[in-house]
Amino acid sequence: MAQETPQGGSGARGPEGQQTLSNLLQESRRFAPPAELAAAANVKADAYDEAAADRLAFWERQAGRLQWERPWDTVLEWDAPFAKWFTGGTLNAAVNCVDRHVAAGRGDRVAYYWEGEPGDARVITYAELQDLVNQAANALTELGVAKGDRVAIYMPMIPETVVAMLACARIGAPHMVVFGGFSADALRGRIDDSDASVVITADGGYRRGAPSALKPNVDEAVKDRPGVRTVLVVRRTGQEVAWTEGRDVWWHDVVERQSTEHTAEAHDAEHPLYIMYTSGTTAKPKGILHTTGGYLTQVAWSHWAVFDLKPETDVYWTAADIGWVTGHSYIVYGPLANGATSVMYEGTPDTPHRGRWWELVAKYGVTILYCAPTAIRTFMKWGDEVPAQHDLSSLRLLGSVGEPINPEAYVWYRHHIGGDRTPVVDTWWQTETGAIMVSPLPGVTEGKPGAAMRPLPGISADVVDDQGAPVPNGGGGFIVVSEPWPSMLRGIWGDDQRYRDTYWSRFEGLYFPGDGAKRDEDGDIWLLGRVDDVMLVSGHNISTTEVESALVSHPKVAESAVVGATDPLTGQAIVAFVILRGEGADDGDALVRELRDHVGASLGPIAKPRQILVVPELPKTRSGKIMRRLLRDVAENRQLGDVTTLTDSTVMELIAAKLPGAK
Ligand code: ATP
Ligand code: MG
Repeated sequence: MAQETPQGGSGARGPEGQQTLSNLLQESRRFAPPAELAAAANVKADAYDEAAADRLAFWERQAGRLQWERPWDTVLEWDAPFAKWFTGGTLNAAVNCVDRHVAAGRGDRVAYYWEGEPGDARVITYAELQDLVNQAANALTELGVAKGDRVAIYMPMIPETVVAMLACARIGAPHMVVFGGFSADALRGRIDDSDASVVITADGGYRRGAPSALKPNVDEAVKDRPGVRTVLVVRRTGQEVAWTEGRDVWWHDVVERQSTEHTAEAHDAEHPLYIMYTSGTTAKPKGILHTTGGYLTQVAWSHWAVFDLKPETDVYWTAADIGWVTGHSYIVYGPLANGATSVMYEGTPDTPHRGRWWELVAKYGVTILYCAPTAIRTFMKWGDEVPAQHDLSSLRLLGSVGEPINPEAYVWYRHHIGGDRTPVVDTWWQTETGAIMVSPLPGVTEGKPGAAMRPLPGISADVVDDQGAPVPNGGGGFIVVSEPWPSMLRGIWGDDQRYRDTYWSRFEGLYFPGDGAKRDEDGDIWLLGRVDDVMLVSGHNISTTEVESALVSHPKVAESAVVGATDPLTGQAIVAFVILRGEGADDGDALVRELRDHVGASLGPIAKPRQILVVPELPKTRSGKIMRRLLRDVAENRQLGDVTTLTDSTVMELIAAKLPGAK
């Protein structure tokens, strides 16, 4: 295994010291692209220069991947901070994702290998997908859904979820997908905010080996919402459901009798495609608006470039939920626009056993896998022997998204899942950016564990200091985007002021995503977590990510979350919560001392946690992100803040019980 040990850091800090993030982590492992992959790569090194020479011409060429009914007049109209791309052009997103592949004679290609949690499976070709989408589009029209109406989708991970989204796109009704794990309250809030008049749902879906009901949450969410005229229900689990006559209709009654013919209207390039609420990791979710032409251009190009997609031969799998932007861009729109064959899985990774994902990789011959660091760290915790029992030799490329990937998790992923053959692309982006922004290119970039590396061709992102000035190599600060990009959000639904305040007020003329970052000595970019999470210890800004990565690099630690808690001596002190690898591991004082020393040795004494608590679980959003603000509440003995986007609210009680003084 091409691996050296990380250099013991001296605790060296960047020249910015107090102003920006201290640059603590040293990581010297490097992984060059495999020669064969590099030689045949979709994107070569010249793409950077080509895009830099004329950014708009570059994106114009990428828009040419799509089928336009009418070509655009203007590539970009920029009335800061509001962008319009490809104005004057018209196209239909569903036609681009489905019909044109069928028309080109590729109707027999598999669009999805779908696998239900109980083991039932469906293979859906592009031709079949076209029929299903057309029927659903006809049904929505019959139900009175018109262009511009918002449709809420609250579904399990089943093919009808994709069909419903594409049917909405086809008729120009923006969809608003709400994660199936969210509560009735969360659903109601999003229905209210987006003013949706139709909800598409299912009786339930399978999770952790049992049917999990969805319809009761919809009933609860819309019970005093006369604005919701119709609830369209897919039968998935066969559970009993309450029925409101006149409002509720079965999918199989209304969709399946429709014609498989539907004439699609071309929509304006800037026609709203969907609204997606952010994960709610830091604050009240924001309704992010995405439109059609620019969004589809950038998701299609980035999916093809970052994953080196070969649509004829690859089997691509984004193991995420469609209720998260990753699912929108890289389960639905990007892969389908590229005519890819994807795997879609309904359930949890440990049902009926902890090797389920690896069984699926072997069964379908998955070549490209894209998932979140939280999943990777969970697999590390479950043990190396689990993936080792499966044939993973089909994999040729791995991706990561959602949080900074700890170097140790990256190396584990590459070694135990990728057999040391596969590049790992760490992709930085957000709901707001719509598509990947900073990432290695697998045939070009020498990978560094933990670094997202460079902005993609056509993307102008930078790391700046407090004043908005670019930092030199070795410096730390904030990631920003300095030029509009095709898939950028067009605003926050119904709240232009919040859009300006949240993203455009921190730095004049720069888009501010809210994440800390550093530039290393080679000029490569490392994401350091959210700015809200940065800790100020004895005058030094320290990133939670770096301390967490140091903890995870200890062989006994599977996962960790670090927060800054008020401290009379140091301003803030570092409090770490850790989950140990393997079952029943010891959590005595000796281990805590060992971990503190380990952090001190790798990052320098200033980064030593004041307190380390061994816990069974960490609070996470449904998309798998650690909610540090709740841990900060615990560490500072405060009442817990908003927990509605938590996966499991009992986790916080388990953690509180571990605090000194708790019974
Ligand atoms: P909210 O904005 O409501 O607090 P959220 O930011 O968690 O929720 P998302 O848009 O799903 O909602 O997540 C985007 C964020 O995830 C990024 O801003 C960043 O903090 C983090 N992120 C995603 N990918 C990466 C990555 N590869 N490296 C580091 N951080 C990442
Ligand atoms: Mg965010």
